Amino acid sequence: MTLVLSDWLITRADAEPHRGWGVRVLDGVVDAVGPHEDLKTAYPDDEVHDASGHIVMPGFVNAHVHLYGTLAHGIPVDSAPDGFWSFLDDYWWPKVEDALDVAMIEAATDYVCAEMLRSGTTTFYDILEAPNSLPEALLAQKEVVESRGLRGILSFEATERAGPEIAELGLAENVALIQACRDSVLVSGLMCFHTTFTCSEDYIRRAFGLAGDLGVLTHAHCNEGIHEGQWCEEHLGRRTLEFYDEIGVAGPGFLASQCVQLSEREQEILGSSGMRVAHMPLANCEVGGGIAPVPELLARGVRMGLGSDGYINDFFAVMRGAFLLHKARLLDPGAMPAATVLAMATQGGAEALGLERVGSLEIGWSADLQVIDGNFPTPLTEHNLAEQIVLWRNHTHVRDVMVTGDWRVKNGEVLGADLDAMAARTRLQAERLWSRS
Ligand SMILES: [Zn+2]
Repeated sequence: MTLVLSDWLITRADAEPHRGWGVRVLDGVVDAVGPHEDLKTAYPDDEVHDASGHIVMPGFVNAHVHLYGTLAHGIPVDSAPDGFWSFLDDYWWPKVEDALDVAMIEAATDYVCAEMLRSGTTTFYDILEAPNSLPEALLAQKEVVESRGLRGILSFEATERAGPEIAELGLAENVALIQACRDSVLVSGLMCFHTTFTCSEDYIRRAFGLAGDLGVLTHAHCNEGIHEGQWCEEHLGRRTLEFYDEIGVAGPGFLASQCVQLSEREQEILGSSGMRVAHMPLANCEVGGGIAPVPELLARGVRMGLGSDGYINDFFAVMRGAFLLHKARLLDPGAMPAATVLAMATQGGAEALGLERVGSLEIGWSADLQVIDGNFPTPLTEHNLAEQIVLWRNHTHVRDVMVTGDWRVKNGEVLGADLDAMAARTRLQAERLWSRS
């Protein structure tokens, strides 16, 4: 039993924070929240984790990451891709995804898991696309995530782009992982396919059918730039989400990432169907995809999380992207309140991923929390706390991180992780990857 006693406690990102409150953790879940004195009186024998001078809030939920993406940071390219299609076809597929093997994936998974913990992330959803690492790449990742001790949802981005054999292996990889995780506390799986332009209607239907049988969500990338919507208009006679709607898969079982370039009708479909969305503000900039209509989708009641896309994984930077981009696009400084961003970064991500009792520090919810330095040059108040965190903190301000009641970061150190050695191991694997292209 542990009492974590902080200056400020955020139980839910969309509720008022509590000054002078703490949280009691028992058996991996939040057992009580309240003022320090009440908790100390009620539980005099509990161990006290002193978080004075600090803010305690839910750990971040990174709703979309490619752990292997780290291996491509800084990879030499002959010339910059001149569009989204060229980004995939000339660069990302041949030089990165097709060249990945299990040793590379394991090293990147371990390093990025530690890096994410270090920046307050306690849950993530990973999408692996590495056709030449099949089968069993996901099982290898599962071992690494479990040993690092954070909550991971893993998936393989099944696709028909690399031929029928790889297409079958991709779907089977997800099924095998989902079944292997039935008893795992930390790791679970989702069904996942790539996009409309790499998967046929039959194949997409099969993915949803398998997910339905297994009781999991199905994930796909959707309209990351202008390319997919145009491709669908040209080849399928309607836009991406209209196609999904017409074949009957648009619904609460569908997690669509990106959703950047959407027609009015596609926004309507997202809102009315109950689909879930992950938003990647910084990665959308990187690939020249555009800026997703996030305030519009939130207004339609879409469940949305934030993701790093394996690009910049410091979640404070991701939040700043979400906080600032939409104001600029809509010419409206009120378009994206900090509390909304903080909610997408925590409980919104958990809802988008279909996780229960994750993403908020209410009684009975998983004790996934972070302790953030509360020493700011201006006073903290109930009304500015979210903005202070979103704008003026980064991973170096995260002192401690707990996942399901276990400390994984203390005093800024990821427990049991030699980050320098892990970076060196990852660098070696990145050199192997780069030498293949
Ligand atoms: Zn992605």
